[in-house]
Amino acid sequence: MRQRLQRGPARVGVGRIGAGIAIIALLASGASAETLVLEHFTLIDGTGRAAQRDQSLILVDGRVTEVGPAARIKAPKGATREDLRGKFLMPGIIDSHVHLGLVDGIEQSFPKYYDRANVEQQLKLYTAYGVTSVYTLGTDGDEIHTIIADQRRIGRIDGARAFTAGRGVVYKGSYGGVPGLDQQVSTPAETIAMVRREVAKGDDFVKLWMDDEFGDVAERMPYPISKAAIDTAHALGKKAVGHIFYNENAAGLVGQGVDGFMHQVRDKPIGPKLIADMKAKRTWQLASTLSREASFTYKLLPFVDDPFFVRGVAPATIAALKSPERQARLAAGKHFGQYPAVLDMALKNFGTMAKAGIPYGMGTDSGPTARFPGYFAHWELELMVKAGVTPLQALTAATGTNAKFLNARDIGTVERGKWGDLLVLDRDPTADIRNTRSIRAVYVAGRKQPTIWQTCTGRAADACGPAPQ
Ligand SMILES: [Zn+2]
Repeated sequence: MRQRLQRGPARVGVGRIGAGIAIIALLASGASAETLVLEHFTLIDGTGRAAQRDQSLILVDGRVTEVGPAARIKAPKGATREDLRGKFLMPGIIDSHVHLGLVDGIEQSFPKYYDRANVEQQLKLYTAYGVTSVYTLGTDGDEIHTIIADQRRIGRIDGARAFTAGRGVVYKGSYGGVPGLDQQVSTPAETIAMVRREVAKGDDFVKLWMDDEFGDVAERMPYPISKAAIDTAHALGKKAVGHIFYNENAAGLVGQGVDGFMHQVRDKPIGPKLIADMKAKRTWQLASTLSREASFTYKLLPFVDDPFFVRGVAPATIAALKSPERQARLAAGKHFGQYPAVLDMALKNFGTMAKAGIPYGMGTDSGPTARFPGYFAHWELELMVKAGVTPLQALTAATGTNAKFLNARDIGTVERGKWGDLLVLDRDPTADIRNTRSIRAVYVAGRKQPTIWQTCTGRAADACGPAPQ
């Protein structure tokens, strides 16, 4: 591979006092821009358009300034150039349903583990897997707002960009949320106050839970509570999304104007009425969390020895997953026998929605115990294809469509003006969705992040062996 590396004067360090003068001088000379040209790749641009061969793009200070046929793109003088002949370039993946900072290994505890360092470490694990943005779904402490404010001020960050639902709304004593986080409400008035308070902190959207854990919980969130949450979100200019399980709750929330569902309907096949209502109300199926449902069907996850997984977790985590006690405990779980049917229903309903033209994104519900950041996004894409969409459709859901839901204009597609949040693959993911795992490079705002193939969590750097060629 031909590769020239050049660095402009902008990379020279300047002290705090000198910085202003230096920036003015660099702007005046036009030399401040860091220009990177990626050339001759096959482009999957995230809009849904078919892959385009022999494309190039220019990134200036981390943003796409030009993209198009290689013959038309002229590399500016002094630019760093990378020849990506034979490679596939797509937008960084967006996972529309994650939870950050909840675990250490597979032990989950918000009070013990949620802090900035843990959140940022997980955001870096996401980027190692090519997931360059995540929507975090209602289990965040207030630190998330500082992290996100810093990310948006800096722009050219290390790790995935986060968008948050802050503290999602949980009906007191019912299903949802995490122990240790104050997020429960009992009345519509409390709901209105909570949503106002949380949106004022900087929430990008609002989350609520309406479920009863297979009937184990006495009462699901009552509709006056969900209505208060949705209406307050809308009054504040925010979208509201729901955790649902039951078909009847999906129907009820669509009627109340919920903007998106973060899981599939999993109790029965959805019918034409729900489809028609979702279309009429423009409700999105933002996440179907098929990988979540699939993970519950196993005593021992089938990929515990897969290098693509192993590199992202410490040996102690693999040992914990493999322990006979854990496997026995999972198999003896009250609902273990129900999960295969739940998974089948989720797959079927996702397929039905996709065929019917309901807008759908890609979301995993990774982050809670044994649902692994990054790895699950690739598993989710595979399951979406298994459920009946094409690889290109799954990739579009995971990029352009997910960005569109939150009107996140800087991400999601490879187009002029967007951040250069990019994934470079060795093999064609539109031919075989499992080729999303052939990660060659990940860029956030035009800067390379360590990939999972360059990662060996919790071990010596060389203990995972060389990256596959
Ligand atoms: Zn979730």
